[in-house]
Formats: sequence, C-alpha cells, structure tokens
Amino acid sequence: MSKQNILVINSGSSSIKFAVINPQNEHEYVSGLAERLSQPEARIIWKQDGEKTIYDMPSADHDIVFQKILHLLEEQQLTDTLAAIGHRVVHGGELFKSSILINDDVVQAIEDCIGLAPLHNPAHLLGIRITQKYFPNLPQAAVFDTSFHQTMPPKAYLYAIPHALYRDHHVRRYGAHGTSYRFVTGDACQRLNIPVNESNILCAHLGNGCSAAAIYHGQSVDTTMGLTPLEGLVMGTRCGNIDANIFNFLHKQLGYDIDRITTLLNKESGLLGLSELSNDCRTLEEAMEQGHEQATLAIDVFSYVLAKSLSGLASALDRIDALIFTGGIGENSRVIRAKVLQQLRIFGFQLDADANANNGKNNNGIITTADSPVAMIINTNEELMIARDAAQLAGC
Ligand code: ADP
Repeated sequence: MSKQNILVINSGSSSIKFAVINPQNEHEYVSGLAERLSQPEARIIWKQDGEKTIYDMPSADHDIVFQKILHLLEEQQLTDTLAAIGHRVVHGGELFKSSILINDDVVQAIEDCIGLAPLHNPAHLLGIRITQKYFPNLPQAAVFDTSFHQTMPPKAYLYAIPHALYRDHHVRRYGAHGTSYRFVTGDACQRLNIPVNESNILCAHLGNGCSAAAIYHGQSVDTTMGLTPLEGLVMGTRCGNIDANIFNFLHKQLGYDIDRITTLLNKESGLLGLSELSNDCRTLEEAMEQGHEQATLAIDVFSYVLAKSLSGLASALDRIDALIFTGGIGENSRVIRAKVLQQLRIFGFQLDADANANNGKNNNGIITTADSPVAMIINTNEELMIARDAAQLAGC
C-alpha cells in the first residue's frame, strides 16, 4: 500500500480520538477512542470493519496509550501507509487563519493561546509532542476549530466593551466548530450544485456543544459562539446567551463566587438545567413523548433560541441558499428540526414531513418541500476534513 493515509488525532485532557483515513477515496481504515486516561478505568475502544474491540489499560496515560495505538496500527500494517498526521486544535486565537504544518513556532503559538482554551490546548500540545516523538519523520498539521471564523468582520467579532480589552487582551468573538462548517458547506454546495464562492449558507452545528454560523461565499461572516464556548445557543449543559449581570445578581443575592457561577452556567444549565432531567436530547425527546413538562420546555427553549439566532445571522447574508443542520442533534432530531423550521416560517420554510422523518435520506439531505427555501441535513465529518487539510499541506 502506498503512503497516502492520514492519522487524525484529537487529543483531549482525558481522551484521545484517532482515525486512519485515506483522504482521496475517503476510506476510514480504523477509528477509535482512548478514554478515561490516567484513571483505573482507562481503555481503548478500537473500531475496524464494523467491529469494536476494547482494550482495558488501567491507569494508562497519554504516552502509554499512544504506544499501544501505534502497536495496533503496526499489527494492521497501517504505520507504513501514513503520509502525515493531522491534529485537531480547538483554539488558534487570531494567530491562525487556516490550517498549518507544525513546527516549533506553531507549537509556541498554540501554547500562547492556552489562556483562551485552558482545558483543550495543553492536551493538544501533549498529543503533538507524543506523535512527534514516535513519528519524527512525518509531516504534522494543526487544524484549528477557530481559524474558519477569522474572516468575520470587526462588526461581528467585537463586543461593545472598552476597546482596550480587545486591543491589549484579545477579548473578542472567536467562534467554534469551524472544521465542521467547512466540511458541511462544501458538501451541501456540491449536492445543490452551487459554487461555494457564490453561496449564502446558514448552518447549525448541534452536538453537545452547539453553534450556528452565517457563511457567505464559503467564508464565515458571523457565528454565535464567543470568546469561550458558553455564548450563543442553548446547549447540553451550557446556558448560551445570558445577561452578564447574572454574575453580580447571583453573588449579591445568593453569595455564589465566580467559580460557582461559572460551573453553574457551563455544567448545570442548558437542556439539563431547564429539564432537571438530562443533557441528552434523545432522553428528553422520549420524556417529552411521555408528557414530561420540563423536558418539553427545554426542547422548546432550545428550538426557539436556535431559530431566533438563525434569523439574526441571516442579516449577514444576501439570501438563504440553504439552512444546514448537522451534529448529533441536527442530524437526528426530527422534533427539533420541525420546531425550528416552524419558528422560521417568516422566511417561507415549509417542512417536508416525510423527508424530515427519514432524516433527509433518499432526498439528498433536503427536508423541505420543492417550493420552500432549502433546509437540509449534512452529516459532518471533521476527521475527513482534518485528513484533507493535512494531506494538502503535506503535499500528498
Ligand atoms: P459531540 O458534540 O460530543 O460530538 P454529538 O454531535 O455526538 O456530540 O451530539 C450529541 C447529541 O446528539 C446528544 O444530545 C444526543 O442526544 C443527540 N442525538 C444523537 N442521536 C439522536 C437522536 N436519534 N435523536 C435526538 N438526538 C440525538
């Protein structure tokens, strides 16, 4: 086998997601997840040819787990097929406007952005250093979640706070899910047969974290996520948009300190906080069917805030060629898509109930009627996008 595969790595603080992908024919040879790293329950879930194998590795850390992954790749004769490695990196601040081959300066710059992603960037750096150790001769690329949004104009990324905070401390909107937006925009334009550089797209990436973006001629012109992943839409456990004075209110009224309020807004709010049941959309939909009032309320608030945000983002476009739903909720939740389109009726969206019930399958992803503006489902594939970027940067 010639060297044309890419090892895609998403190194988190307690997990490593990985895949070996051929970006040319889009074949995924293997994928997996090493989770609960450095804990007694540490393990690798290895997925190949539709089969899952679990390797328990009690207390294994990133390095030990990576050695095992390497060993498994060698057993499958995949190591010699690798042409490059692509790393997901959450935050590139204003330093990276696109994906880039990793060298010492890039590593330093990712380190310089740690303040903006204190949980994520150190874990990415750990992954980069380990793979550099084991694959010293392979080109490695960093693919940033934020770089896609670097095309936003100042009117979209500036907060109305003293300008010195932006000038001196880089306080601004950065956005997230950029790799997903790039992938689904390309895929949607291909399906609709419109050139990306002439397209006007609204997109909602709805996973555990959620954001929406206005994408004009293939470039992000506005998005809902902000300086941190808290802003914007309602999410699994995050509140999304809120009056910033809630910090003052909860402190003065209830004596909560900054850490308590930060945890409350990030971990105890969103779908979980509203429903007092779960952060998981599937669980809430089942509960709603059985008449659970707060689950119904949580789904209503989630859908309304999303529709309201999409309406706002439409201000950045000339027209709407397509509204794309993606991520676990976007790709699977018939209920939420139906509610959002109903709430966006001012734009003329008309749901095709059968197509929606089928998640757009057999209909090119489209879930609206022929005389409606297009709303469609595109399954995201961030790993493939990272593999494509790494291959292109490595010249293979
Ligand atoms: P992550 O952001 O961690 O990648 P995902 O994109 O996998 O997350 O999305 C997870 C969300 O998708 C969860 O809220 C989950 O309940 C929801 N989801 C997955 N499948 C369905 C389904 N069939 N119906 C409704 N929601 C679903």
